[in-house]
Amino acid sequence: MLDKILEYQSIDNEIVNLENSLSRSTDRIRATEIQKRLKDQHSMLVMLENNANKVNESYRKASVKYQEYLSKLEELEKQMSNADESKLSTYENAYKDFAMIASGLEKEINNIYADVLQISKEYEDIIKRSKTERANFDKYKDSYAKLKNEVEPKIEKLKTELSKKEKEVECELFKIYKHKRESRIFPVFVELASNKCSGCRMEVSASKIGQMKTNKYGIIECENCGRLIYKK
Ligand SMILES: [Zn+2]
Repeated sequence: MLDKILEYQSIDNEIVNLENSLSRSTDRIRATEIQKRLKDQHSMLVMLENNANKVNESYRKASVKYQEYLSKLEELEKQMSNADESKLSTYENAYKDFAMIASGLEKEINNIYADVLQISKEYEDIIKRSKTERANFDKYKDSYAKLKNEVEPKIEKLKTELSKKEKEVECELFKIYKHKRESRIFPVFVELASNKCSGCRMEVSASKIGQMKTNKYGIIECENCGRLIYKK
């Protein structure tokens, strides 16, 4: 009487294995990991672009200011060449101050330029890494798609077979099976092997085994894992 449900379970098991081969495929897992890294790299690029904009703006402002002070110095030089001896030291002091500011600005500009170079290097590095990652992603994605194309029709075929088999299985047994299956107990039916549940290897008591003779369908429920134990 159990034969039909055991046949059903065996097809169901094949489906589970095929579905697992898809969900546990290393190609799929690798592709997902790469996808995550690509997303991180994209965020990094956006961040670097924002930084580059800020740095460019500071560079522009510092350059304008620097030009301003260069003009001021030039102007002072002209004034100094025509100045009275008595005012010369005032001009000279102002010149020194302006020259110091200009040199400070020059340093600032150099520092900003170093930042620009650093950002652009980081940007290039990420672009390069992303290219390699993307190539790998495509490789794993294609290889997973190939596996999927092979496995999915098999699953579909087995599912059709399963629905045909369903009609042959005793209604009550099928209900129990479905219920256990939905509670993620699988396989539902397991054999009694050396007085142990072959699902969880738990020893089954003699009195419980005795119930097999009197129970309908000759099955007992494992107290440990909830599977249904039958005897061949
Ligand atoms: Zn068990």
